[in-house]
Amino acid sequence: FDEIFDIIVVGSGFAGMSAAVQAAEEGDKVLVIDKMPVFGGNSTINGGAMAVAGSDHQAKAGIEDSVELMVSDMLTSGRGMNDVEMLKLVCDGTAESARWLESYGTVWKPFVQHFGGHSLPRVLQTRESSGAGIIRPLIAAAKKAGVTMYKQTKLIEFVQDGQQRVVGVKVKSGYFFPKEKSGSDKLLGARKGVIMATGGFGRDIPFRQMQQPRLTSELDSTNHPGANADALKQMMLIGANPIHLDQIQLGPWSSPDEKGFGTASQFNTAATYQNGIVVDVRTGERFFNELADRKARAEAIMTRRDDQGQPVYPIGFTNEKGAAKAQTLEWGLKYDVIKKADTLDDLAGLYGIPADKLKAQVAQWNQFVRDGEDKQFGRPLMQAFELTEGPWYAVRMWPKVHYCMGGVRVNTHSQVLHLISDKPIAGLYAAGEATGGIHGASRLGACAVAEGVVTGRNAARSAVKADALSL
Ligand code: ADP
Repeated sequence: FDEIFDIIVVGSGFAGMSAAVQAAEEGDKVLVIDKMPVFGGNSTINGGAMAVAGSDHQAKAGIEDSVELMVSDMLTSGRGMNDVEMLKLVCDGTAESARWLESYGTVWKPFVQHFGGHSLPRVLQTRESSGAGIIRPLIAAAKKAGVTMYKQTKLIEFVQDGQQRVVGVKVKSGYFFPKEKSGSDKLLGARKGVIMATGGFGRDIPFRQMQQPRLTSELDSTNHPGANADALKQMMLIGANPIHLDQIQLGPWSSPDEKGFGTASQFNTAATYQNGIVVDVRTGERFFNELADRKARAEAIMTRRDDQGQPVYPIGFTNEKGAAKAQTLEWGLKYDVIKKADTLDDLAGLYGIPADKLKAQVAQWNQFVRDGEDKQFGRPLMQAFELTEGPWYAVRMWPKVHYCMGGVRVNTHSQVLHLISDKPIAGLYAAGEATGGIHGASRLGACAVAEGVVTGRNAARSAVKADALSL
């Protein structure tokens, strides 16, 4: 080996950084590698929202939540396909992990939000509305705790001993994504184990199409360019059991008028979906529950097509009050992704919506809010208010590939399980999006941060306890 550590963490997103800090806290010599030129993966470019059951924020707002209720919400969204043991482990760890993140410098906004599919408000969000508000403090903590971090270092295969235990990784050091042959080979040893926190494969068009042929290149993705299946394939090559790979989440809050995660995702999550409505431009009418889970919303949006099958982009909108918590509003307006209209007539004119129908729909919505019941689609109205006056802010919407529910099968010690024996592959752990099963058919919003942090720490706690080999 060129270098030897106790634990090697592959990937520097929520899962990888949480694993690294946890293992270093417990005194181990830790290396984090990431193939990209920047640390943080998808984690650093997402909205930084974390679902937490039983947070101090909820207590202050008088919201009574429980781990059981969060588990039940995620089971409903997952269409019952979830790995219940892992699901419980994640939900159970959220409150403590949110405080752990705070102890390293993450700052949550002072209020709690209600995201789609959760039966009550339980979402904390970083001050920055970005995962960077979690990743940056964790990187600082890791460095302080003596964790070694190499970027542009790609795992290309595992190193196993005679008993098939994973004892290290072969990497390309000085790797330039996506140049396959760039960099030079190095062998890195791991006395206790390797933790795979390598994320999903949302940007790997051929691989995602093998799982779900309709996910063609016409669908954009919110993921960072390195989100491919290379690491997953290496795990499969040494016997890891891939599950739920065809369960690929489409984010229902994105806009066709910009690339990637962009400005619409945060705007729609914080504003339109919580405080506004979404309508079909042809009829001016709502056509789904804006607080349903992501799968239900994305599938509903994708039914909006013309006779040739081409998308007819729906419009999501809210007013000034509804947009107050959307941090990307200014940028969205600047790039013309979000449009502003003073009156509903103007809004209708901007998108060619029949104005009388749009106004009738808004009036009907306001009546639902007054009655405390959404008679169209049964949306929960706990934080809803009437939409009475402009100015209005609106976006065109179309889903993008966002998250892979599938990945390798793990046990509650975060050990990767072998396809044939269903026993742990010695020395191999996995956490975060790289694993499969926790979310079943559809992950609820803000549950990836929860999963990444809780399972990353869980994997580290297990690996720390492993017998150290003398390599
Ligand atoms: P999670 O939210 O589960 O932590 P992320 O997508 O945020 O997942 O992070 C995964 C990280 O893993 C990314 O930064 C990505 O570049 C890195 N990664 C993926 N495959 C490899 C690999 N083969 N070698 C090194 N790093 C990898």
